Parts: sequence; structure tokens; C-alpha cells
Amino acid sequence: MKKHFTILFDADDTAENLVECWISMLNERYGTSVSVEDVTEWDLSSAFPSLTKEQVYGVLTEDELWSRLQPMPGSVEVLQKLKNDGHELYMVTASDYRTLKTKMERIFQLFPFLDWDHVIVAHNKQMVNGDFLIDDGTHNLVGAKYVPIIYTRPHNKNFDTYSTCMLRADSWQEVYDTISFYADLVECQRRSKEEL
Ligand SMILES: [Mg+2]
Repeated sequence: MKKHFTILFDADDTAENLVECWISMLNERYGTSVSVEDVTEWDLSSAFPSLTKEQVYGVLTEDELWSRLQPMPGSVEVLQKLKNDGHELYMVTASDYRTLKTKMERIFQLFPFLDWDHVIVAHNKQMVNGDFLIDDGTHNLVGAKYVPIIYTRPHNKNFDTYSTCMLRADSWQEVYDTISFYADLVECQRRSKEEL
């Protein structure tokens, strides 16, 4: 039997497409024409030089933004598959408490196999125990006990994963392959120890 892991995964821009929704709301409201590929820094306001920070971050408190969320390609299927494989899943999100109600209602619609018992709200994700964390924010992946899997987005694509000992996944299928490979490896090591 394969080893079962506790798998932590991020919400915004990893499981769902917050940045895409955020950008389209700003474009609609302020007549800008920014695309997801233009967001090459963690701070989204750097891609909107004509707007104030208040304008950029203001929409985060609007329910409409959160109700627009869609899953990242493959995230629903892969998370469901990992759960079916027997792994325990926890969404770990640094959400603002003021946005939580609408945001979580939308997320539970998109990920019906997830419930509130499997959501952890934490800014310092390194405090959370788990075997893996899948996240697009590099600050959540450094210096942690979990195996860090960086989910590739335009803002982190040049981040040096080699010197920081991180695994990189360009898609949810790659997340699945990485975790399955790791599970096989652990099982293989366990069997070879038993045979000694
Ligand atoms: Mg994120």
C-alpha cells in the first residue's frame, strides 16, 4: 500500500484563479488592459502603474470578485484524485477575515469534496504541519518542514527553486505526478528496509 500524506494547498492563484478575476475587474472598472502574464511581481499593483494601491486592493473587499472565482485548470480533478488515493487534504489560506464568508462559499461550490474542517486560515504557513505544501507564494515555501511545491505563475517563474530546494509544478497534473512519485519512493524505501 502507498504511503498516505497530509497535503496542504493554497487557495488564491493555486487552487483558484483569483488574480485573473481581480485583473478583469480592474480592467472593466478603470479601462486598463493588463493580462495575467503582465503580473511578474507578487505585488499586483506594480502591473497597474496608472492606479493607486487603494484602487487596486479596494476590489478585494467586494463580494462580486470572490463570486467570480473559477478553479485553476485541473485543480478540482487532481485534488479529488489525491483524496481518492487516500491522502488528507487541507486548504491553507492567508485570507483576510472580512472576505472569508463569500470566498469560502464560492470555494465550497467549486470544490464540493472540501469542508470547513479541512480549511486552515494562516498567514505564517510554516506553522502548519503537513507533508507537502502546493503554493504560488515563495514566502510560504521557504524554511518549512513540509516538502515545498511551487505552483508556477508568471510572478514566480524565474524563482530559483534549485538553490532553495523546492519542487516546481507547472500544472496540477505535475502536482499529481510529483506526489505520486514521492509516495512510490517512500513505499519502495520502506520495503527495501523490511527486506534487510
Ligand atoms: Mg496564492
